[in-house]
Amino acid sequence: MSVLVMMSGSESRLDAIQQDFSAQGFDEPIWVPGDDFDPEAVEMILAWKPGAQDWRPYKNLKLVQSWGAGVDHLLEANLPAEWTVARFMSQSLKDRMVRYVCSQLSNWQLDMPRLFQAQKSADWAWHDGRWGKKVLILGLGELGQSVAQGLLSQGYDVSGWSRSAKQIDGVESLNGEAGLEQGLAQCDYLINLLPLTSATRNLLDEKLWAKCERQPVVMNVGRGASLAEDDLMPALKSGQISGAILDVFSTEPLPAVHPFWGHEGIWVTPHIASISAPEDVIALACENLELVRAGKAPRFPVDLSQEY
Ligand code: NAP
Repeated sequence: MSVLVMMSGSESRLDAIQQDFSAQGFDEPIWVPGDDFDPEAVEMILAWKPGAQDWRPYKNLKLVQSWGAGVDHLLEANLPAEWTVARFMSQSLKDRMVRYVCSQLSNWQLDMPRLFQAQKSADWAWHDGRWGKKVLILGLGELGQSVAQGLLSQGYDVSGWSRSAKQIDGVESLNGEAGLEQGLAQCDYLINLLPLTSATRNLLDEKLWAKCERQPVVMNVGRGASLAEDDLMPALKSGQISGAILDVFSTEPLPAVHPFWGHEGIWVTPHIASISAPEDVIALACENLELVRAGKAPRFPVDLSQEY
């Protein structure tokens, strides 16, 4: 029995992946698509964007472990509904996301692009910054809660919107349509950390911008398709929002001809807010395989029927 690694580029990364499995004391075979192996011997699939395919040959599969925290790529793969699925999560993933969000907000407030530009002409471009304290985080899960704590420690007023109510010291928990409207009306910064599901696809659209009253800066670090991209530039032009810091896009890499690249009010980063460290993914995969072999639930399980 063994592991099948299904991720783009996995053939070239197989040596490194095997070393990370060995470091965990895992000495069973590791295969990639194209290898000569018996699908019935595959116990775990370690996957990133595997694509839809015929999953029936994997009769003895115990676990699909997602390489990333998001599992929209697995929803697209049409996995059998009864399969056990887990996603990646780690302290380093949370820490990195917190640092990205906090530093980008500071960069925005200090208008760093203008200061970098001014430095080139020895221009002492003093300004008193663009401040604002109220943050609304869409999604108060593993990453959203960590970001909330990070922002609280920097003195922000933090609200978070989620499906279920949360009890987090110092964080206002908002739920439902009314909670979303309340949060949108009061925020200076809006941070999307929702998973991509049928309910969150295109959620950030012209109807949502119309509910914002304080011209927030929008940061999308969840998934690109939660933002209705065609509605963004009109919202910037009309002043409903003051800027957009985007790390994720419907199409990645963002096409070179995309108008977001050249827009002054939009900052583009190449899906680097946080990344899955391979050694952490493989450590969790080994731990989860042991758990499911023992008949237990894996850590960070995914409910495919809920889409996250
Ligand atoms: P998570 O732990 O599953 O949390 C998701 C949160 O969203 C939960 O609070 C959930 O509510 C809420 N939610 C889901 N659907 C909702 C809806 N329809 N209405 C309101 N709230 C809803 O996810 P996570 O680990 O924090 O990760 C969030 C996303 O970040 C991932 O799915 C991934 O797409 C993205 N991500 C991006 C990067 C990057 O580099 N840019 C890196 C890693 C992850 P409940 O708490 O009530 O369930």
